Amino acid sequence: MFDNLSDKLDKALHVLKGHGSITEVNVAETLKEVRRALLDADVNFKIAKDFTNTVKEKALGQNVLTALQPSQLMVKIVKDELTALMGGDVAGINLKGSPSVILMSGLQGSGKTTFSGKLANFLKTKKTKKPLLVACDVYRPAAINQLHVVGDQIGVEVFSDEGNMDPVDIATKAVAYAKQNGHNVVIVDTAGRLAVDEEMMKEIENVHRALNPDETLFVVDAMTGQDAVNTAKAFNDRLNFDGVILTKLDGDTRGGAAISIKTVVNKPIKFIGTGEKMDAIDVFYPERMADRILGMGDVISLVERAQEQFDEEEARKLQKKIAKNQFGFDDFLKQINQVKKMGSMKDLVGMIPGAGKALKDVDIDDDAFKHIEAIIHSMTPEERSIPSTINASRKKRIAKGSGTSVQQINQLLKQFDQMSKMMKMMQGGGGRKMMQMMGK
Ligand code: GDP
Repeated sequence: MFDNLSDKLDKALHVLKGHGSITEVNVAETLKEVRRALLDADVNFKIAKDFTNTVKEKALGQNVLTALQPSQLMVKIVKDELTALMGGDVAGINLKGSPSVILMSGLQGSGKTTFSGKLANFLKTKKTKKPLLVACDVYRPAAINQLHVVGDQIGVEVFSDEGNMDPVDIATKAVAYAKQNGHNVVIVDTAGRLAVDEEMMKEIENVHRALNPDETLFVVDAMTGQDAVNTAKAFNDRLNFDGVILTKLDGDTRGGAAISIKTVVNKPIKFIGTGEKMDAIDVFYPERMADRILGMGDVISLVERAQEQFDEEEARKLQKKIAKNQFGFDDFLKQINQVKKMGSMKDLVGMIPGAGKALKDVDIDDDAFKHIEAIIHSMTPEERSIPSTINASRKKRIAKGSGTSVQQINQLLKQFDQMSKMMKMMQGGGGRKMMQMMGK
């Protein structure tokens, strides 16, 4: 995420390294680079200019006798300002209504339908709500179908009224249906167009007026940079929406939209979409995003994701197995699956401070585990639980079955052996605590 911007900001802030103090000259030099980095990331020109002016004032106004090095101080000021620019505090969503009605708006292709599903899934699992998804795109039967597919996938009911060409009528009926059937959240997916046009605006305005939603969310594709900001402005002028959803932040996004949008429409970014799958949704935390932009990693999100996947019961069972020397390849597979559930490898690496930058040119393959999984799947249950039974002929068979080589089997067996020894060692004394922390 935002690799280019992170890189350039890092270089800009490096200018101050080796300088003993902050002066008008070195600050100007640094900020020229910072501004260039922001503009290259497609940040609105005025915002970039105001940003560097504020940073400059703050930097020059600092007490020289501070404990921080000039470069550290500058990083801190830039980080604080970036955080403020993106909204400061985290913004929640209003779920007080009964049912709470959430209206989705945005252009076609921005990710509205996908996000409607993600949000329903998020509310269902995290907030134990009973959502109803509503298909209001009356022009594209495919869109209604898509929402049904999404609903099936996450186990959330979808309300649609095929043949009905009146979105206001559909939405009103859906709310009544929700009340009758105990749904406490109604998420209304609307029709989008390829560009802002009057007819679409009128339609969504009508739905908005009729529903009087608790939350109107504007969904926008972060890859579109400045255009995202302009579209946001057009929708906000008509709908006065409550929050922004930035999608496709997993792609090659430059960052401009994330940084500029809050200032332009004065509405917070509430969630981000980081992939096509239903769990690729994150609450937007301005400070964590600033950390990530500055290559400082996002340890909090990483730990949170690990905690989400952490299953105490499983961990206890695993500890027992390790203590008894019974840790086998089936357990190993389970561990791999836990890590995979935390997100894409690239995403996870990006959250580790410094790692994103250091590994930027390394091709991090989400299929990194594929070979390992294939090898384990080609083993018999006996081989999985007692790896020492895997002799030369078995290795040949496993290699053939998994489309790998004997050399790869040997490598995995060796790694597995080392890992088992290490786990055993960690079982004694303080190691156990460490393992618990790692969710192993
Ligand atoms: P809609 O027309 O606004 O309803 O947009 P869709 O929900 O149909 O999404 C358009 C395309 O973007 C689909 O191919 C989605 O899979 C994809 N998409 C949506 N959100 C994300 C995201 O966060 N990351 C990525 N990589 N793709 C996304």
